Amino acid sequence: MSATETVVELGPFIAGNAEPLGESNQEIHDPATQQVVGRVGVCGGEDVQRAVSAAHDAFIEWSARGVAERGEIVAHGARAIRAAVDELAPLLTGEQGKPLREARIELNKAAETLEHYAGLAKELRGIFVLGLDPGVSGQVLRRPLGVVAAIVPWNFPTTLLSNKLGPALVAGNTVVAKPADTTPLTTLRLAAIMHEAGLPAGVFNVLPGRGSEIGELLVTHPLVRKVAFTGSTPTGQRIMAAAAEGMKRLTLELGGSDPMIILGDADPAKAASAASMGRFFNCGQACLAVKRLYVDESVADEVVAAIVEKARRLTVGHGTEKGVQLGPLHSERQRDSLEDQLRRTLEQGGEVLTGGGRPDGAEFSDGWFHEPTIVLEPPHDSPMSTEEVFGPALPIWRVRDLDQAIEYANASPFGLGSSVWTSDLDAATEAAERLECGYTWINSPTKVYDELPFGGIKASGFGKEHGSEAFDYYTDQKAVVVRRRERK
Ligand code: NAD
Repeated sequence: MSATETVVELGPFIAGNAEPLGESNQEIHDPATQQVVGRVGVCGGEDVQRAVSAAHDAFIEWSARGVAERGEIVAHGARAIRAAVDELAPLLTGEQGKPLREARIELNKAAETLEHYAGLAKELRGIFVLGLDPGVSGQVLRRPLGVVAAIVPWNFPTTLLSNKLGPALVAGNTVVAKPADTTPLTTLRLAAIMHEAGLPAGVFNVLPGRGSEIGELLVTHPLVRKVAFTGSTPTGQRIMAAAAEGMKRLTLELGGSDPMIILGDADPAKAASAASMGRFFNCGQACLAVKRLYVDESVADEVVAAIVEKARRLTVGHGTEKGVQLGPLHSERQRDSLEDQLRRTLEQGGEVLTGGGRPDGAEFSDGWFHEPTIVLEPPHDSPMSTEEVFGPALPIWRVRDLDQAIEYANASPFGLGSSVWTSDLDAATEAAERLECGYTWINSPTKVYDELPFGGIKASGFGKEHGSEAFDYYTDQKAVVVRRRERK
């Protein structure tokens, strides 16, 4: 079954225009069936030029508007996205592969994040400093940067974009977005919907196309002042090098290998649920997925059995089918990479407790499906421990105590998030202080809140999205000194 009845055809979205397909175009395939669900224009250098110029021209008028007005327009856009969830969710499932339920969650979350920043608009303030010297005061002004290039991957095409779009637009910047080349459809529709809801022409433009071509051109374009990137660590490193020459501002939200630690006094059922949900949501293709699990040996048997049971009960299938909890991986490349990681890991050791391969059945034969998989005790220097596992496979290790768990957890090159399950407040506090990453959940599923800053350290990148802190990454702070006229 296909998620969308018709094949959608979309060109780039530039200066408020949904452009026709054009001669250079590519097919978009349903990861569950490989059927064609859409065709999009493949942009080149001339399109980058037009989109950046449109954003640059729009910046003058957009940044001059009152901040509350910008917030109101972004809020209108968010409401229009919510109203279009029934149209957009099948499109997202069709190009990305996730179950419809998860597509709806993603789209509503994208709207929620835009609403969050629209609501913060009136709080975007500078600072006034009285009495620097007699009769002298200071101001710190927050000024928008200009044109922002927003480059995002295919796993959450709309939320990862709205994390950038919200603070960037409300602060007065304009945006040229580049979705992943395999998931441009929903993003292109989203831009048109926000424009119809009142976002002025040129403020938000979308260029479908290849990262190695238009991505690089965007990053090095002289009129682009900031690059907000989410994606893999190697691409982030390339972007950082390319952006250096133009001294661009950068936010890099990169890969992760988030550990979860379950101590002996944790609630085993709740912890097992959070591990299962944290690993298998979006078929394991989330930056903040639970990618390594360390369980205190006193409760390991019980917790492992519960997680294995949950993995076995997951319904795998096409995202549009009722009751499906695990769709396909996004692409052949993703499944090949997972299978390769599993093979290399199991050559070194470890025991497959469930899954380990492709599901049987004709309904799975054309898609990039993989069984939910649990591997017990692979060696700590094996790929499932040292690399990012971007699919539905969870390695689990028994640990002696909190110290050993933290030692293993911090041994990763990544530092995005982590979670800890315990009823001991002291242990939780200590873990939160010692875990080397940007976010720690205590006795909580790995949900990202708009109210709190999110972003990694080490190979997971730098800069924050979410929270009012995100505004710091879309504004410059300018100091102004004012000397009062002396009284005669
Ligand atoms: P990727 O780095 O291959 O691609 C991401 C985006 O960058 C795509 O739009 C791609 O076209 C573009 N791109 C590729 N080469 C480019 C270049 N040279 N210049 C400019 N743009 C270029 O990432 P992926 O493998 O598609 O996505 C999965 C990765 O994203 C995982 O590592 C995951 O952990 C990470 N991710 C991180 C976060 C976070 O918030 N930290 C969130 C989601 C995903």
